[in-house]
Amino acid sequence: MNYNEFSLLYNDILTQNKLDKYINDEICAKFFEFYNILIETNKVMNVTRILDARDAIVKHFADCLLLAELIPDEELCLIDVGCGGGFPTIPLAIVKKSLKITAIDSTTKKVDFVNSTAKALGLNNVTAVSARAEEFIDGKRESFDFATSRAVARLNMLVELTLPYVKIGGKLLAMKGAAVNEELEEALEGIKKLGGKHVKTYNIDLLDGDDINTRGIALIEKASKTPTTYPRKFGQIKNKPL
Ligand code: SAM
Repeated sequence: MNYNEFSLLYNDILTQNKLDKYINDEICAKFFEFYNILIETNKVMNVTRILDARDAIVKHFADCLLLAELIPDEELCLIDVGCGGGFPTIPLAIVKKSLKITAIDSTTKKVDFVNSTAKALGLNNVTAVSARAEEFIDGKRESFDFATSRAVARLNMLVELTLPYVKIGGKLLAMKGAAVNEELEEALEGIKKLGGKHVKTYNIDLLDGDDINTRGIALIEKASKTPTTYPRKFGQIKNKPL
């Protein structure tokens, strides 16, 4: 696919999803470059299951731009837990230049991919680190304005992996699917124990022509400090979610 074909698709999908503010050549060119890097890397390493350009624009790029809408354009720091092949890290870094992103993942190969992609795209606001969320906390408690995470764990586990990092008054944005309300019900007790407060859930239809992909983003605010007994070891988080 050449750049012109890609940009026509990109503009069409962003317009459908009322994301017009991200339609410009500089941003689109970065997403095109990122798409090509994903395709090339996928030949030697599994970074994504989505290879078709239209699907990548809808399910990866527009999906993450819907999240970008919830983050102000200010000098803020954000931790993306379980960034995998760079989602939402790289799309956020492309459209939010003032955001300082720390991306963590337990798989070193993915972290290397995210760092080299950020470098190739000229994004100097991303640092990816190879670490497990429950083990990386020392010195980073309550130090981020935002935490984000997509497709990492069920919400009742995810809150323990993310909320300890969030400053009081900061926010966790958990990217979920259609089951967001059900997951939230299960997680409410844990959110309270971790010093969080559920503020709102955004139910979003991610559109692609007649196809509707249901998305839910849970917004959880940090109301008070997380007790230092959290996060626990992963086995405990998994076997006995809060
Ligand atoms: N967020 C990316 C996305 O939406 O495409 C990746 C999703 S992938 C399904 C889940 C990622 O979470 C994997 O790359 C895995 O290594 C990472 N992960 C799972 N548990 C983790 C933990 N406790 N700490 C750090 N990374 C974790």
